Amino acid sequence: MNEISCDVAIVGLGPTGVVAAILLGMAGLRVHVIERRHEVYEIPRAIALDHEIMRIFQQLGTAQAILPYCEPFTPSEFYGVNGELIRRMTMIAPPYPMGYTPSMVFTQPPVEQVLRERLAQLKTVTTAFGYDVQDLIADAQGASLATLSDQGEEQVIEARWVIACDGGGSTTRGLLGIDLQDLDFDEPWLVVDVKVNERGLAKLPDVSVQYCEPERPCTLVIGPGNHRRWEISLKPGEDPAQVATEAGTWSLLSRWLSPEDGTLWRQASYRFHALVAEDWRQGCVFLAGDAAHMQPPFLGQGMCQGIRDASNLAWKLIAVHNGDVQGEAAEMLLDSYGIERKAHVSELTGRLKQIGATICERDTAKAMARDLQLLAECDGVVKDTPRQDILPPLRSGLLSTHTSEARGCLFVQPRLHGQNLRDTSLMDELYGYGWRLVMDARLQNPVELAGLTLVKPDADQCTDAEGVLTQWMEHYQCHAVLVRPDHYVFGTAETDSELHDLLSQWRTALRL
Ligand SMILES: Cc1cc2nc3c(=O)[nH]c(=O)nc-3n(C[C@H](O)[C@H](O)[C@H](O)COP(=O)(O)OP(=O)(O)OC[C@H]3O[C@@H](n4cnc5c(N)ncnc54)[C@H](O)[C@@H]3O)c2cc1C
Repeated sequence: MNEISCDVAIVGLGPTGVVAAILLGMAGLRVHVIERRHEVYEIPRAIALDHEIMRIFQQLGTAQAILPYCEPFTPSEFYGVNGELIRRMTMIAPPYPMGYTPSMVFTQPPVEQVLRERLAQLKTVTTAFGYDVQDLIADAQGASLATLSDQGEEQVIEARWVIACDGGGSTTRGLLGIDLQDLDFDEPWLVVDVKVNERGLAKLPDVSVQYCEPERPCTLVIGPGNHRRWEISLKPGEDPAQVATEAGTWSLLSRWLSPEDGTLWRQASYRFHALVAEDWRQGCVFLAGDAAHMQPPFLGQGMCQGIRDASNLAWKLIAVHNGDVQGEAAEMLLDSYGIERKAHVSELTGRLKQIGATICERDTAKAMARDLQLLAECDGVVKDTPRQDILPPLRSGLLSTHTSEARGCLFVQPRLHGQNLRDTSLMDELYGYGWRLVMDARLQNPVELAGLTLVKPDADQCTDAEGVLTQWMEHYQCHAVLVRPDHYVFGTAETDSELHDLLSQWRTALRL
């Protein structure tokens, strides 16, 4: 029997696992990935992603290779019982705060392929495709994973840490006996992807639509190119297997298209759930992605949440591995992963459920009341709501104790233009991805900067090319902001003395 030893074993190479593996591998950790399939799953599930995720792809060095598979997300228009517009979700207006289109649609299989190619470049990462995790023995010091290949070969993996990214049916979560908390959403839907031809495209709306119709709530998403997705709710008594047959699916699509208008790419019945794991860490094992949470697909957040998990956990494991934080501080840092992510996922899932409840109201009288209420709230004129408004900040965990509106928010990535720069560059490209202290000229540089990258565009003779940074500082009324490696705001300061306090809080939190 073969034995492999590594710093981090990652179970599952879906979007969550591959992002975690690349981030850890880029930092030089010895990573071993176990994935039961050989190839990328060839059919898209996720169709939407946002600018935070693209910023993480940039960090991985893959943004330019991924952007050709993405397109801006069209507005989503919600239509009520009588076919009138009741809500409209759009994007925030430019200049874009993260340097990328805020909401995008994308084609998942080639994007995952780009990520796998990046992973293959990393010398400290090994991958075992066709291997299935069968058993796990773990304590606080490390874990031993028993794996079996589809050729019948056994391999034992000894790891200091394990990240279970093995999806909704997570074997690892089951082996640990971690329960899922039910956030009370359980709906049968049919999801259909169609490659639509010219004739079909001419029949379809050019915006994405939420049909909030009590008879049969459904969603149409304008995907990249000629890819169109329908999510169609099923009625009580409808057979999920029958509607997923070609004939059953075309029959449900007949309102929009006939079989001559395109080809079915895939159709599958799902139960949309809202579930979150009770525990996100057990000793040296962490749950991430769908293994830790599942949410209804409204606004396309499932994969994004998994990638946020990977980004949140990776920098903490790297800091502990490198000895930057030790002992009790290291344990607290690793615990903060579950504290931060579980609260964030639960809050966002609650908001997605509310949107789902709006879309899925099946009682006609209540649906009409909903329409009247939504229209009354905007005085009869539907206003654009940016999709990003739905994302909550981090509210607890490794954050400054001084509460401010900015604390826990995702920090912007301004475009900077400087004397020595031919073109503009995004902040992270210039200053990297560690802890960053971003300041304007109003405050004195701190004496002690160990462990921090100072980002002071004026001092570096850079200008805030689009005004994104200046606007952010003005909005949050601060002159300095301490940004975590995952781009969330640890805390802000308005004066030199507040900055001094902020940095001492940071040193205390990390026991530096
Ligand atoms: C219809 C639908 C629409 C969606 N739309 C969106 C959207 O628009 N935007 C969005 O962000 N999200 C969306 N999602 C959610 C998104 O697809 C998932 O959240 C995402 O795929 C989760 O990624 P993951 O890496 O955590 O898990 P997965 O993608 O499920 O990957 C898990 C991996 O683990 C492997 N594995 C499992 N068990 C083992 C084992 N024992 N040993 C070894 N390997 C194992 C599997 O083979 C798989 O490759 C949608 C989901 C559905 C179903």
